[in-house]
Amino acid sequence: MPVTETTYPILSQFLCVVEYITGMPPQPLDATPEQAENAQNRQDEVTGKKHLPKGVVLGKDGKPCRSCTSFGAWAQMAKKETTTPATISTTTPPAQATSSLQPPADCPPDVEQLGRSSWTLLHSIAATYPEKPSPQQQTDTRQFLQLFGKMYPCWVCADDFREYMAKGNEPKVSNRAEFARWMCEAHNAVNVKLGKEKFDCNRWDERWRTGWKDGRCG
Ligand SMILES: Cc1cc2nc3c(=O)[nH]c(=O)nc-3n(C[C@H](O)[C@H](O)[C@H](O)COP(=O)(O)OP(=O)(O)OC[C@H]3O[C@@H](n4cnc5c(N)ncnc54)[C@H](O)[C@@H]3O)c2cc1C
Repeated sequence: MPVTETTYPILSQFLCVVEYITGMPPQPLDATPEQAENAQNRQDEVTGKKHLPKGVVLGKDGKPCRSCTSFGAWAQMAKKETTTPATISTTTPPAQATSSLQPPADCPPDVEQLGRSSWTLLHSIAATYPEKPSPQQQTDTRQFLQLFGKMYPCWVCADDFREYMAKGNEPKVSNRAEFARWMCEAHNAVNVKLGKEKFDCNRWDERWRTGWKDGRCG
């Protein structure tokens, strides 16, 4: 018997009030994921708000930010939009790596693909940084990192990266080894934030400059 159909008048009235306040009929305690999803969709229609899947991050324009969101969460949202009319939630969850799903190679990057490509660029810049940089090269590198921190397309990542540099972790650029170590530690700070393992910075050279000692990188 559906939970709203009860022979007890007081309980019926209570359930009507619940429905009036929440905009959603009371749900059985053992609702299937499909029932829960349908109920959420009905509530979204009533409240005019869109329930964004976990991990979808809004941009500063209030619209979902693709480069701040994992492909899995993005695809889930897109799937939902084909079944319910779109309105936007005002909440902004932190950027998270929530999925191992990959966007097809010719699609805009998600937060993870963008991150991997960006770290490849940053570590490669460090790998080709001079052992004895001129004062101008050092200034250029500091400026590049500041601008990178302003322009990085995942704004929550960019905000945290700028904050990291501002709070006692200014880029160290006086020579290649120092710059490489700084980059490795900056990357590890993000790894820790995302709950990933730290990379052993003593192996940075092999990973990003010389190739592994077993010769597999040619
Ligand atoms: C500046 C910046 C800030 C970011 N902030 C966020 C954020 O706030 N939230 C979010 O969800 N994502 C963020 N990202 C993306 C995130 O760091 C990852 O790139 C993404 O989650 C994909 O992770 P991955 O496990 O594939 O490997 P990645 O972390 O992208 O690493 C790529 C490769 O680099 C090597 N590596 C790993 N750690 C290190 C290290 N410490 N030093 C040297 N090499 C290393 C490994 O071989 C690894 O396979 C950020 C990226 C950048 C560039």
